[in-house]
Amino acid sequence: MTEKKWVYLFSEVDQAEKYVGGKWDDVKALLGGKGANLAEMTRIGVPVPPGFTVTTQACNAYLAEGYNFPAKMWEQELQALKQVENLTGKKFGDASNPLLVSCRSGAKFSMPGMMDTVLNLGLNDETAAGMVQLTGDTRFVYDAYRRLVQMFGSVVLDLPDEAFEDVLEEYKKQKGVKSDTDLDAEDWKSLTKEFQQIVRRHKGFDFPQDPFDQLRLATEAVFKSWNGKRAIDYRNAAGITHDLGTAVNIVTMVFGNMGWNSGTGVAFTRDPANGEKMLYGDYLMNAQGEDVVAGIRNTQKIENLQNEAPVAYQQFLDICDKLEDHYREMQDVEFTIEQGKLWMLQTRDGKRTAKAAVRIAVEMANEGLISKETAILKITPEQVDTLLHPQFDPKIKKTAKEENRLYATGVNASPGAAVGQIYFDADTTERMAKEEGQNVIMVRPFTKPDDVHGMLASKGILTSEGGATSHAAVVARQFGVPCVVGAAAIRIDLEKRQMSVNDKLVKEGEWISVDGTSGEVFLGKIPTVAPTLEEQTDLLTLLKWADEVCATKGMRKAPEGWPTTGLQVWANADYPADARRARSYGAVGIGLCRTEHMFFEPERLPIVQQMILSETGAQRKAALDELLPYQRADFQGLFEAMDGYPVIIRLIDPPLHEFLPSLEETLEEVITMRVKGETDGLEDKEKLLKNIQLLHESNPMMGLRGIRLSIVMPEIVEMQVRAIFEGAANATLKGFLAKPEVMIPLTGHVNELKVIQPRLEQIAKAVMTEKGVEFPYKFGTMIEIPRAALTAAEIASVAEFFSFGTNDLTQMTYGYSRDDAERNFLLKYVEDGILPKNPFQTIDQEGVGRLMDMSVKEGRATRVNLEVGICGEHGGDPLSIDFCHIIGNNYVSCSPFRVPIARLAAAHSALKHKGVSIAADL
Ligand code: ADP
Ligand code: MG
Ligand code: MG
Repeated sequence: MTEKKWVYLFSEVDQAEKYVGGKWDDVKALLGGKGANLAEMTRIGVPVPPGFTVTTQACNAYLAEGYNFPAKMWEQELQALKQVENLTGKKFGDASNPLLVSCRSGAKFSMPGMMDTVLNLGLNDETAAGMVQLTGDTRFVYDAYRRLVQMFGSVVLDLPDEAFEDVLEEYKKQKGVKSDTDLDAEDWKSLTKEFQQIVRRHKGFDFPQDPFDQLRLATEAVFKSWNGKRAIDYRNAAGITHDLGTAVNIVTMVFGNMGWNSGTGVAFTRDPANGEKMLYGDYLMNAQGEDVVAGIRNTQKIENLQNEAPVAYQQFLDICDKLEDHYREMQDVEFTIEQGKLWMLQTRDGKRTAKAAVRIAVEMANEGLISKETAILKITPEQVDTLLHPQFDPKIKKTAKEENRLYATGVNASPGAAVGQIYFDADTTERMAKEEGQNVIMVRPFTKPDDVHGMLASKGILTSEGGATSHAAVVARQFGVPCVVGAAAIRIDLEKRQMSVNDKLVKEGEWISVDGTSGEVFLGKIPTVAPTLEEQTDLLTLLKWADEVCATKGMRKAPEGWPTTGLQVWANADYPADARRARSYGAVGIGLCRTEHMFFEPERLPIVQQMILSETGAQRKAALDELLPYQRADFQGLFEAMDGYPVIIRLIDPPLHEFLPSLEETLEEVITMRVKGETDGLEDKEKLLKNIQLLHESNPMMGLRGIRLSIVMPEIVEMQVRAIFEGAANATLKGFLAKPEVMIPLTGHVNELKVIQPRLEQIAKAVMTEKGVEFPYKFGTMIEIPRAALTAAEIASVAEFFSFGTNDLTQMTYGYSRDDAERNFLLKYVEDGILPKNPFQTIDQEGVGRLMDMSVKEGRATRVNLEVGICGEHGGDPLSIDFCHIIGNNYVSCSPFRVPIARLAAAHSALKHKGVSIAADL
């Protein structure tokens, strides 16, 4: 039996690939993202310092075996180290030519800053002396050595950072210098000694001098960090499972701090904020990796490297191109230049804003790097959602500036507008958000991995230090939290819990507005406005491609006569203005127009009430005649706005009492009048009260409403249908193509439809004859009562279309009243895992979904071209949309604002179920 392989050299990626069965994703799972990409770069000839990866399987085995290395792992690690020694010509622990390595964590998914890296392993008192001999640079060697003791102390031995930082600060103070760069060789030498004493003092043993002990302990520390609190928090927030484990990468050290022909930096191959195709990053000459991210010194923009190290810069550009071509993705890279020689230390898919993501996907498709389908799949519906999110109202922002409320500016690290009360530490921030329900903004000099829970609870994040690649910026971008970093004018006083810019003081709990798009911070609250879609040309392009995918015949496997394209996206719109917005957002139909909203308008409500309170048929007819022109005009406007696209209009749905004042109020008024002896108008009020009492029902949701009301009191819907068809006829006469579809709500038995639908169709025909025009129309029903779903075959013998009213269908299938459920127990159910999701947000596929699936099948068995859709909130939810694709809906209909999200989600479903995936591209 061959020995289990726990360790892979960077040059052994082929073996790893073979072991996992060829999929790159599985290689990443085995070697971690960092390790897999270091190996991949090695394979394609990008310069990477020699090294190896201990697998995530080794980590899992270590954690499972009670914190013991699995058999042979350590031997393999030592073996791999031998190979690295051969490749570098150096020897680990050998004073005459010591090999130094870094020990780096790296899980399948990049978890920025979540786990720790130890640099310069292999240094001890002897090898340090040897290195001094070799380099002749005592300062460099002891700077490296004290970093090792410090990182080892904090990462491996769990000492607080401050134990070292405080000593360093005190040392500088005594010496009267400000910056680390002012310290010389002797300083670092004595600080190294002091740091070693700190270890002894805190731990009761010496900093390990044996390099192999260092390596072993560091490897263990990385393994253990997988189960550290901050790693667990991050995984919970990012939805990463806890059983993946982390790999350990051992990498030959290269030094960016070996003088002024050395340096180190980080870069994105495209701008992660707006997606522009240009190198974007920072570097520092004569510095080690961590310095750039830590923001200790002021970094340089990457373009400047051209002047300081032209050869290495050109090589770097070529490598960036090569990596983008290879991965077909924007890359986020780390590099170090050691005495003029360029080394790549990391590459990964770069995190980016939603805006950048869309631009990059579209441009890469146009560049031919990826297909349009891949571009579509690379963008999530949530990202589209972010792009349609509110921004600060530019006019009010301008006034705020004139009023001197612009407080500070910094780097626009993560876009969006945030208004909230400020807090200065993660715990308080989280508590105020969760317990007090406040909108909070976390303000820190900079953030660390321990702050993530506070950042996630925040509406916005503000730091006074750090740049576009700082921890705060990276995390904020990933989670879509608006963020401004490096607002250097702000002085934060963590003790007094306040911040100031000159004499402008803001205390904890006070309000500010953070504009992550522009990098500005304002005092007080600034109102927000929704952005327009028209300006977002890249998004429009992407959505156009999404529509093309959905419109392709054969995207869906389906029985004869069913739709084989993807889903169409329609919108719910009650007014012509909504319909126009829906059109501009790309809706190709209206799936729900709620006519009763029109009844509530101030000039109409009295007529509606008069109609309800009528004592004779003639009175009622008169009131309805008065309403007719209003409704006709409403509908005509809709048909004109939706020229050529279907418009589903739902006949009156709610119980009549909703149009009357409340019982309690009216009763009170009547009693007060009687008590006060007021007679003026008392009779009318009493009559009103009597009517309200007559219409009062103990459970109106299940009472006289929808089709039942239409059967009991047909005059209202007869008026509505006349208005619909007269409006459609008028629009037709003006040259528009009207396609009315009349939707009857709340059907439970086919006989209900049989009574009412023919009566209404007669009116439709009569109007067309009167007006002398013809246009296509349909009559159909909502499926929102379980009995209707159960008898879909019969219902479809009358109804020409179905529209799932999933809100009511969910209420009635579960027996929940939504408002009561959400107020009293539903959220707890979801939190406790009794229900996997809120069924009012995502369709409950097993229950409600089963009824839907059945309805489509049985409905189409009766009427094969039955048009099926969904209206209501679920129509804008990506998971529910996917379900609608599966069961064979023609369309989903949602709020106009969610139409772009639904268009993308519909394309995702079409591609996914056709078996098209991103990986197939590569
Ligand atoms: P993180 O996940 O926090 O980015 P890394 O493992 O990438 O951690 O390392 C932290 C820093 O140390 C980075 O700037 C990286 O480039 C640098 N670094 C890691 N290994 C080496 C090495 N062998 N030589 C030089 N710098 C290194
Ligand atoms: Mg790290
Ligand atoms: Mg890194």
